[in-house]
Amino acid sequence: MEKFDVTVIGSGPGGYVAAIRCAQLGMKTALIEKYPTLGGTCLNVGCIPSKALLDSSEHFYNAVHHFEEHGIDIKAPKVNLKQMIERKRGVVKMTCDGINFLMKKNKITVYQGHGSFENKNTIQIKKDDGSVEKIESAKTIIATGSKPSTLPGIEIDKKRVITSTEALELTEVPKHMVLIGGGVIGLELGSVYGRLGSKITVVEYMDRIIPGMDGALSKELQRILKKNLGFEFLFKHKVTGVKATAKEVTVTALNAKDEPVEIKGDYCLVAVGRKPYTDGLGLENAGVKVDNRGRIETDGHLKTNVDGIYAIGDVVKGAMLAHKAEEEGVYVAEQLAGQKPHINYNLIPGVVYTWPEVAAVGYTEEQLKEQGKKYKVGTFPFKASGRARASMDTDGFVKVLADETTDEILGVHMIGPRTADMIAEAVVAMEYRASAEDISRMSHAHPTFTESMKEACLDATGKRALHI
Ligand code: FAD
Ligand code: NAD
Repeated sequence: MEKFDVTVIGSGPGGYVAAIRCAQLGMKTALIEKYPTLGGTCLNVGCIPSKALLDSSEHFYNAVHHFEEHGIDIKAPKVNLKQMIERKRGVVKMTCDGINFLMKKNKITVYQGHGSFENKNTIQIKKDDGSVEKIESAKTIIATGSKPSTLPGIEIDKKRVITSTEALELTEVPKHMVLIGGGVIGLELGSVYGRLGSKITVVEYMDRIIPGMDGALSKELQRILKKNLGFEFLFKHKVTGVKATAKEVTVTALNAKDEPVEIKGDYCLVAVGRKPYTDGLGLENAGVKVDNRGRIETDGHLKTNVDGIYAIGDVVKGAMLAHKAEEEGVYVAEQLAGQKPHINYNLIPGVVYTWPEVAAVGYTEEQLKEQGKKYKVGTFPFKASGRARASMDTDGFVKVLADETTDEILGVHMIGPRTADMIAEAVVAMEYRASAEDISRMSHAHPTFTESMKEACLDATGKRALHI
């Protein structure tokens, strides 16, 4: 039986990054993945393919709606969905192949098959041909990720009633897509098809979209999606069931007054969150505990209740984000090497890749109110930005929340062009505990979208923004 210092189960951004860092730190490392391609949800059916389709659909939308104004005359563009999906597959393949390269480069032994604990230190790998190989490992990192959740009364038939995985592989543009859940997946994939011409109806249980984010972002994104893509929103609606025929779906829900409503469409995308995935992992054989939501229980150092077994990423508590999983992978590897790493969970940014993009880090205004914290607000609208006017991306704003007394930045909430990239400045600032004044005194290149961050900080420090 081959012996390893560390075995990582699952090759998503948590697992493959943990494996690389372990190998960099001199550990003999194995990585087990049940699918033929590495990269997990993120690379295969998550972050990367969804962003590929978001980019393609945004090009189409701009060609239809904005080229003329820019002085570009073209024939009326048509959607070639087959090619769009094909390009997306190419992007996914290139990215997954990149992980194979990284595994080889770092001399990580990759096993393809379903991993499960025989006991604390022995792991079985069941291959697709039914054969079983066993390895021994001093330490194990569980990084088995998550799968889409559904609701009682809904059967995902993967044809008409679909999850994000099927939505990335449709063969036609839906006429009317009903989204259950106005969270990140619903709004991103709804944007893809909305831009290609689908009517989109969002059925959301709460009273706003992206409910975990700052309320001002929800409000602005709702306004823009309605204005630009004609999204319809049904809030405070509790979905009770979905029925599908060969060509149609009927979603039933109870509205805010508890009255039954019916929404008909040709596709229903169920995007009500994801659940941790530990099926067939043999956790009971190793004695690893899960909590009441099926997540592997970990302490503050990502250790499970069993000595030598760690868990990271979507399968443990916290935000289900690729970069959170990556941070945790590095954290565990460095801890195993005797280092003292640290993760500041409050400074893990969140991004929604709609257009305009939504990005945030730190506390929301609602959270600061709840904590009774005294804070100042600085905002700057993109319509006052020269760079945004040049690109005709004037929707949205940057909102900075700073401590009323010390001026320390406590939260940054942005909606606008390229805010997914802009939020990095806020993360750096907050990691170094910068004040709004610090940022407002730093030179930001002109003309850039990032000037809006500086202006929002100027606004927070004595209402001295220069361009509003
Ligand atoms: P995963 O990526 O889920 O990987 C787990 C891996 O473990 C899988 O490959 C699985 O096959 C394997 N596995 C499971 N059990 C076993 C076993 N017993 N043996 C062997 N292998 C096993 N996050 C972002 O930060 N940004 C985004 O833009 C973004 N977009 C997304 C879009 C969509 C449509 C979806 C669905 C998710 C998106 N996410 C995004 C979330 C992101 O994909 C996850 O947070 C991230 O993939 C979690 O990484 P992970 O390593 O914990 O698990
Ligand atoms: P989510 O938690 O973002 O949104 C789910 C939405 O469904 C919420 O608004 C919730 O209120 C609503 N909902 C729940 N039950 C409902 C019901 N019965 N009826 C109507 N609405 C209901 O989950 P998601 O959009 O499925 O995404 C799953 C995970 O994937 C998220 O945790 C997210 O972090 C991750 N993800 C991230 C990105 C990104 O970072 N850009 C993109 C896609 C997915």
